[in-house]
Amino acid sequence: MIEDINRDVFVRIQTDLLVVGDSIMTDRHHASNGNYEDDDPQNQIGGIIPAFPLSGWLRHGMEEVVHKYDGTACHPGEASANFMKSDVYERDLDDGYHEKGACTDNPKEDDGCVVFDLFGGFGGVPGKVMRRPIKFNPVRSSVDYTRGQAEGHYRRLNRNIVSRNREDNREPLRNAEVDAVANLDGCWHLSFRETKPEFIGLLAESIDFLDLHKTDFMHQLGGARNFGAGIVDCHLINPLYEERELKRVFDRGKGNTNKMDEKDDQWAEEYRPAFVEALEERIGEGP
Ligand SMILES: [Zn+2]
Repeated sequence: MIEDINRDVFVRIQTDLLVVGDSIMTDRHHASNGNYEDDDPQNQIGGIIPAFPLSGWLRHGMEEVVHKYDGTACHPGEASANFMKSDVYERDLDDGYHEKGACTDNPKEDDGCVVFDLFGGFGGVPGKVMRRPIKFNPVRSSVDYTRGQAEGHYRRLNRNIVSRNREDNREPLRNAEVDAVANLDGCWHLSFRETKPEFIGLLAESIDFLDLHKTDFMHQLGGARNFGAGIVDCHLINPLYEERELKRVFDRGKGNTNKMDEKDDQWAEEYRPAFVEALEERIGEGP
């Protein structure tokens, strides 16, 4: 069954507002079509949402799924990274995590736990899933969903940072400008260096988990969550779809073809349960 799954899979990501620190890269000086005022709602600015925050968001969802099946996951941080936080680290190790890389004696030979297998990050091993950045563009007709792109509208938000000292009476200290993407809708492209049934099972389960927990603070994406950014609707686009079927998902004028409905049934009834079972088995074998 796994041989029917392409190395490239896509997750649909929709959010009203996303703030990724100051790390959204824009093309405002190049492709803005003469309209590059960043506070103009009609601006033509596109840009890139880097892979790093997306990757952390997904990984956290995957860790929760591993915990649900009574497994432990590789800790995302280095054991020696920050001794100031060693109590937090120790607490995590008691709570569903093992030390990063502790699941494998030889990372080049032995795959370790499923999270390590996917994300690597120890002993020079890169992990088997490549997480790509999302390129966004405000003009839907120039968005190529099959290449992991999205429609999205660049915004610059202004925030007043006020003093928290009571006696200062909320005196403004400074004004901060924050890069944001509004009304994002598109595809996040993941490529597997190697496909395994448990990888697809874990991806499917974790995307469902993240969608279900999208309003939980800790499963939101990016920053500025305290003012409502980063609540993401997400779902795994049926990995059995072909390219033209994937495009059709984003075509508001068209619905599913019969073939797509058929594939949805196959996915839900045969493929997904088999892949989730493979995941349970892999986790059951221990880290
Ligand atoms: Zn591990």
